[in-house]
Amino acid sequence: MNSKKLKIIVRIFLVVALINNVSGQTFPVVPIIENGPPEERINLVFLSEGYTQSELSGFEQDVTQFANFILNDEPYKRYANHFNVYAILVPSNESGADHPFDADDEPFPGEAVEVDTYFDGTFDSFGIHRLLTVDNSKVFAVAADNFPMYDELLVYVNTEIRGGSGGSIAVSYNGPEGLEIMNHEIGHSMHRLEDEYNNSSPSERANLTMESNPALIKWKNWLTPETDIGVVQHCCTATQLEWYRPSSTCKMRVSAQRFCDVCREKATTSIHELTDVIQSKSPNSGTVSIDNPTTFSVNELRPTPTTLTSSWTLNGTVIGNNTASISISPNDLIAGNNFLNYTVQDETEFIRLDNYSTVETTSWIVTSGAVQNCGVSVSSSNGSITITGLNSNENAKLFNNNVQAVWSCNPWQGTPCTSNEVISNLTAGATYFVSVQSDVCDEWIPIVVQGGGTNPTCNDGIQNQGETGIDCGGPCAPCNGGGCNVNITSSNGGVSITV
Ligand SMILES: [Zn+2]
Ligand SMILES: [Zn+2]
Repeated sequence: MNSKKLKIIVRIFLVVALINNVSGQTFPVVPIIENGPPEERINLVFLSEGYTQSELSGFEQDVTQFANFILNDEPYKRYANHFNVYAILVPSNESGADHPFDADDEPFPGEAVEVDTYFDGTFDSFGIHRLLTVDNSKVFAVAADNFPMYDELLVYVNTEIRGGSGGSIAVSYNGPEGLEIMNHEIGHSMHRLEDEYNNSSPSERANLTMESNPALIKWKNWLTPETDIGVVQHCCTATQLEWYRPSSTCKMRVSAQRFCDVCREKATTSIHELTDVIQSKSPNSGTVSIDNPTTFSVNELRPTPTTLTSSWTLNGTVIGNNTASISISPNDLIAGNNFLNYTVQDETEFIRLDNYSTVETTSWIVTSGAVQNCGVSVSSSNGSITITGLNSNENAKLFNNNVQAVWSCNPWQGTPCTSNEVISNLTAGATYFVSVQSDVCDEWIPIVVQGGGTNPTCNDGIQNQGETGIDCGGPCAPCNGGGCNVNITSSNGGVSITV
């Protein structure tokens, strides 16, 4: 189970705990599209409203038609394998939905219609004719009892009258425009997008804002010549004119249109938030000991075509790119703990947000009993470094402070190491690194050069060129500066001074 899904299940249990006045009832749950285990996918769960028992096969067809429709629409199309679709078959006693004919904007006259349906679906909600709603608490209760691992709840209402709504649940009629309406309502309920059409009630969302400064507006990164994104004044009342939307063309404005780039971006981030790229890894343990070359791999949930990029590092060094598996051999390891890390991110062009990261990582600590210290010892004197205890099957290198090799011995290159190697004429006081390797050992030893050296000076703070003191005497200026050179000794109760 991935971490993102864990959070959602906690949320579901909270919802279940809040609803204790509806007795549990089980209904058939039909998988319509199943791309993977529910714990690892985004589960769109449909419930039927106003379908009688004999009409439920029509509900399955409606859901199948919608699943194929939405998963061919971006950004869902690219991430289609991230989704499962299920239908909970809930029969109603009668077909259709209530229609009280009491909305302020009722398009035609008629007498109130009331039908006996499971979720109490009705038009004319909140005084708006086409606002088709259901009793959300009943929908949550049925979902909790029958498919608690839902990510998005959708209700198809079996009626010929056009309508829908998109609060915490997406609701649409099942007529010809139902596909587009349901797609629009998911924009509300799953992506928290606002309506972009005229005279909708505005609020601060990813696709609506009171900020009109192009340099500051939340979709500023989309204000580039190849997009149709701009800063479009909302319409039409004085209050609405204070708001701005990204485009004149968007599914949140006209259901049959595509998402504008800004709404598509928000939908893409929703998909990221509900899924993990790294589904599992092998070996599955965090600490792995290897004796032979071993394959490390990740099982990924990828968009199609993929926009993922990835890299492997071993002890901080990149050892592979854009591959889901890599082979590690004991020869690649140093003695003790080795850190193998895998990093993947989605470089999708659907997202231009600042400070938005899709990076996921997983790592292993790799050890090998076959890799040990080489048992050499290193010392320095007179501007030289001495390596003792080298074996003939080992190779050794001496690196300077800039990690450039300045000396090496290597049996496979015709310069076998001897048991006592002395490398001379090194820079006095500098740090060098001795690297020793064989099939079974690996060692990296820093050492500071003592004495001598290629470029000793009379101000290097080291007694390294025959001086009688540090940086004085011998080739350097006399010790005690320019004063008198006086020796004082004492013996037999007297003092002797020589000049
Ligand atoms: Zn809407
Ligand atoms: Zn939009």
